[in-house]
Amino acid sequence: MSECERAQRLSAYHDGEVSEAERVSLEAHLQGCPACAAELNRLRRLSDLLSAAPRPEMSAEALARLHRAADALVTADLGRMAKALMAVAASILIVSGVWLWQSRGRTQPTEPIPAWETAAVTYQGVPASASDEQLARWIVQDLERKNGHD
Ligand SMILES: [Zn+2]
Repeated sequence: MSECERAQRLSAYHDGEVSEAERVSLEAHLQGCPACAAELNRLRRLSDLLSAAPRPEMSAEALARLHRAADALVTADLGRMAKALMAVAASILIVSGVWLWQSRGRTQPTEPIPAWETAAVTYQGVPASASDEQLARWIVQDLERKNGHD
């Protein structure tokens, strides 16, 4: 950064990490070295900016939540995935339910209702044999169909 080799110690000086002797020596040097004086000014401005800026770091708690979410995605067994997909499906159903209600009598849905949607809507009446795994399979099948992976 600076052509003066003593500038290397300015950061430590700025942070108060130099010995008393070095501090005195550096301050004497700063009087006669514009390069170091400029460098010290730069460090101070940088430090001011950093302390004034809002901290962008995530809290440990938020980070932990993120990690858990990522872990759940990566290591998801079918049951956990089914629950996640059911949550997504539920929100889709709420949206599409509102849409259907608003458009009732005007338009008919052109797509056939997927099996898992029917199952989710009539979840109360789903026989015990329709397990989470079965629901997950329907959801995955339906998503694959929509994404054209067949
Ligand atoms: Zn210097």
